[in-house]
Amino acid sequence: MKFNLGRYAMKCFICGKKPVYHYSDFSFSLCKRHFIEWFEKRVFETIRRFKLINPGELVAVAVSGGKDSLTTLYLLNRFSKELNFDVVGIAVDEGIKGYRECKLEALRKFADEINANLIIASFKEYFGATLDDMVQVLKEKNFEYKPCTICGVFRRYVINLKAREIKASKVATGHNLDDEIQVFVMNMLRAGLRNIAREGIISGLHEHPKFIPRIKPLYFCREREVLAYSILSGIETPFVECSYVVHAFRDKIRRWINKVESLNPGVKLNLLVSKELISNLLRNSKYGEGVIKTCRVCGEPSSGDLCKACFFKNYLGLGTSIVLRREM
Ligand code: SF4
Ligand code: ZN
Repeated sequence: MKFNLGRYAMKCFICGKKPVYHYSDFSFSLCKRHFIEWFEKRVFETIRRFKLINPGELVAVAVSGGKDSLTTLYLLNRFSKELNFDVVGIAVDEGIKGYRECKLEALRKFADEINANLIIASFKEYFGATLDDMVQVLKEKNFEYKPCTICGVFRRYVINLKAREIKASKVATGHNLDDEIQVFVMNMLRAGLRNIAREGIISGLHEHPKFIPRIKPLYFCREREVLAYSILSGIETPFVECSYVVHAFRDKIRRWINKVESLNPGVKLNLLVSKELISNLLRNSKYGEGVIKTCRVCGEPSSGDLCKACFFKNYLGLGTSIVLRREM
């Protein structure tokens, strides 16, 4: 695979060898060895500088089987000895035919290869139905909600429950710089100021006794950098896409930002800087005061009286009927 070096510098900035990756916004290129070293060092330093993990912690890595989460599991597993923490991967089987089985199989193989512990939880086990079943209900209801919205809510819910069950003190996700700015733009478009205040490289510390704080070790890595690193390091994942991705608003934002970045290199970094500045300002305003409540039905952390998972369970007819006030 080539990473579009095109008209750019044809030498590694450090050793002068053939480059494999070009940083267009900084105008330098790196050869395979120096790119891998540089990438790993940045992730390692991100963990240390931002104190994402403390010695003795058990970190649950939320693994979807995509390149980002596999890279996160791979690197945390490698750094765990030096930084003295334990790692376990948690995967969620949503029940998406033609997609999830294939990803899970590759994930099991990968975890075996790198000698990492892996736990698999499923929507069926927690909610009594697969995502495919839920999409049928959504179709009947004319897609008032998108599959990804429901999938995301239920997946976060299951991961928090599982992580707590195994006594993990942090949940690491594979969110990269591109993910962060896509979510930021989406929050801006939806005026989701509380979400902007809350999201960051580490979130949920001391928010609720049942909420396991989230960390994002790839926060400063671009999507294509993670892709390059995963390929160059032999981290393999099958190229299958979830069939519901076409419904995702996020996908449109992603394509739009990528287009703007290709015309104006540096736009992504500027967006990240804007995100950091704005979220810092918001954290010190009334939007940062969000008190996490407890869901009156399931007792899990929630932004309202009823958590989103219980709302959707009720909406989809998956649990006991709840008297709903419109809270979504
Ligand atoms: Fe879930 Fe949407 Fe991702 Fe498919 S694309 S796995 S439905 S979040
Ligand atoms: Zn609930």
